[in-house]
Amino acid sequence: LRLPAPEVRVNALSGERVIVAPARSERPGSPGPPRERARPPEHDPACIFCPGNEEQTATELARLPDVAAGAWRVRVVANKYPALVEGVPQAAPVAPDELRPAESALGRHEVIVETPLHYRAFREMEDDELYLVLSAYRARFAAAAADERVRHVILFKNQGSLASATLEHPHSQLAALAFVPALVARRVERAREYRRRTGGSLLLDYVQRELADGVRFVARSGRFVALTPFAPSHAHEVWIVPARPLPRFDLAADGLLLELSRCLRLALTAVARALDDPDYNFILHTPPLAPEAESAWPFYGQIIPRRVRAAGFELGVGVQIVTTPPEESAAQLRRALEGCRAL
Ligand SMILES: [Zn+2]
Repeated sequence: LRLPAPEVRVNALSGERVIVAPARSERPGSPGPPRERARPPEHDPACIFCPGNEEQTATELARLPDVAAGAWRVRVVANKYPALVEGVPQAAPVAPDELRPAESALGRHEVIVETPLHYRAFREMEDDELYLVLSAYRARFAAAAADERVRHVILFKNQGSLASATLEHPHSQLAALAFVPALVARRVERAREYRRRTGGSLLLDYVQRELADGVRFVARSGRFVALTPFAPSHAHEVWIVPARPLPRFDLAADGLLLELSRCLRLALTAVARALDDPDYNFILHTPPLAPEAESAWPFYGQIIPRRVRAAGFELGVGVQIVTTPPEESAAQLRRALEGCRAL
């Protein structure tokens, strides 16, 4: 059997080039239910995120209470080992100069403990559980956005050790930065340039084009569509993108979060069934918090299954090689959802 020739593709949002180089060895078998891993217990007395150990975490920033049970459903705490700090340190650790610029890593670094249960996959959560996690995302985004030093916020989840999770208990993180990362700034510039030239929204136009095409479509719930990107950075990467304009993330209504949680659950279920429950990263992308950038693109999600590690080529030139074409991964993911439409 002859494989299609490798192809260079461009991610329209970021301008990044990727190489799609199909390889038969990457093709997984027919999708089935996720493998039965040894399930961790639902409560671990040694876990700092489990109920009963609340005093072992860093400062609690918020909680969504379970009033009837006198307990909590979602808790937000400061990261014990933060990459970003809220206050300016007493003494600057570095003496920056022109050739070695440096500044304090101002910002916020928070942990969202998604559930009191020690083991609970996102895709196994009920609608109202996942909705509560996303509403905690929304509340913490709003709190970070209200801090005028914050220029950019990212919400993300590392699931499993290949995705760099260090604690088993289900949790997400928020990082708020006092600067706009270069990759994000480039996306804003591309979106603004597209709007100047066409009057349209780069991401929304892209989604409409993909919906009309259909080959990379995975699932849909309300205003959100799950699809594999034309130029993925990782095999079986999935985007959860809106089909219509959205408000800023902190202004998203409850119904919108519910639609997002359903689409996310469909996509994660497809990934788990098609790829034997891989570790993954989930990222909620929002534009930078600057008036000229906020309309650059609506918030959207990205799921990156972690099965292949970066090699010298990727690390050396920043160009990813993907061995499963996104058309093929979308077909696998759609097949994996057959028979579980009841979600
Ligand atoms: Zn725990």
